[in-house]
Amino acid sequence: MAGQAEGSQFDARQFDAKMNDILSAEGQDFFTTYDEVHDTFDAMGLQENLLRGIYAYGFEKPSAIQQRGIVPFCKGLDVIQQAQSGTGKTATFCSGVLQQLDYGLVECQALVLAPTRELAQQIEKVMRALGDYLGVKVHACVGGTSVREDQRILSSGVHVVVGTPGRVFDMLRRQSLRPDCIKMFVLDEADEMLSRGFKDQTLAITQSVIFVNTRRKVDWLTDKMRSRDHTVSATHGDMDQNTRDIIMREFRSGSSRVLITTDLLARGIDVQQVSLVINFDLPTQPENYLHRIGRSGRFGRKGVAINFITADDDRMIADIQKFYNVMIEELPSNVADLL
Ligand code: ADP
Ligand code: MG
Repeated sequence: MAGQAEGSQFDARQFDAKMNDILSAEGQDFFTTYDEVHDTFDAMGLQENLLRGIYAYGFEKPSAIQQRGIVPFCKGLDVIQQAQSGTGKTATFCSGVLQQLDYGLVECQALVLAPTRELAQQIEKVMRALGDYLGVKVHACVGGTSVREDQRILSSGVHVVVGTPGRVFDMLRRQSLRPDCIKMFVLDEADEMLSRGFKDQTLAITQSVIFVNTRRKVDWLTDKMRSRDHTVSATHGDMDQNTRDIIMREFRSGSSRVLITTDLLARGIDVQQVSLVINFDLPTQPENYLHRIGRSGRFGRKGVAINFITADDDRMIADIQKFYNVMIEELPSNVADLL
């Protein structure tokens, strides 16, 4: 659903025409105009308890977009809806989602993304209110709130998640939000969400460097990560300069987001997108610690370093703290928020 912001560059008609051109060349008619109009909520074939929710919310007559938009959504069609600001698009997609949920299955079946925390929370309220008599469980996953609380609520079971991309992605990554049962996806304010500026925010390519202490361990960890489908680059001193240069160029270009390496390279690397350094092994010399973690947060950007340690490393971590006169804290639970 595209919210038509004032001054928006998004022209749905031009977009549709272009898509039709592309697709009709392959013999498919991709976009159809849905022109059926239902001028009452009663005429839309909605569940009784959804209708009760709509009327209890105070809506009597559907707005123009609701008259045209709710039914195709309920039919499970892929829908692009565009109407001016304040014309009732929220209730349009909320009704569509609420009509199609399987309430006996307490798994996330619908994901709604919105560009701001406030908007996501507002949508959550509308969804909950309209779905009151259906017993819908909705949760808003937005930044600036407790990650643990999100995880707790998601694990207790919800039908719908409304959120902002950062936190939703975080919940997916932590496997607190499982996508298996999601059958509906709504992108509110789609023009904004897909605009260049927004993409740069939510999809910033951040990269990490993982340090280990031996060449053999570089190879071992690289194999392990590749076997789990991570795209990683790896370099160490056994490689000739030419190969090392090629690998570094590949990492700098962003085509891989993880570099596994030894202290050999700690000083030379200057990749501005590196925001995370992981010491899979602690360095064997405290001096090397700063060379390693200085790889992240270049040029005034934020950087985070995480050390993997066991009881055997207590001595070295104490030495490092003394050497630099710093406190290295235990990993906080909201580490994703730091990145
Ligand atoms: P937008 O299309 O910009 O997303 P909203 O969904 O936020 O607009 O709706 C704008 C306002 O209109 C809200 O306060 C909403 O409660 C109200 N509204 C939406 N549909 C109806 C309706 N059928 N009857 C009365 N008020 C409505
Ligand atoms: Mg809106």
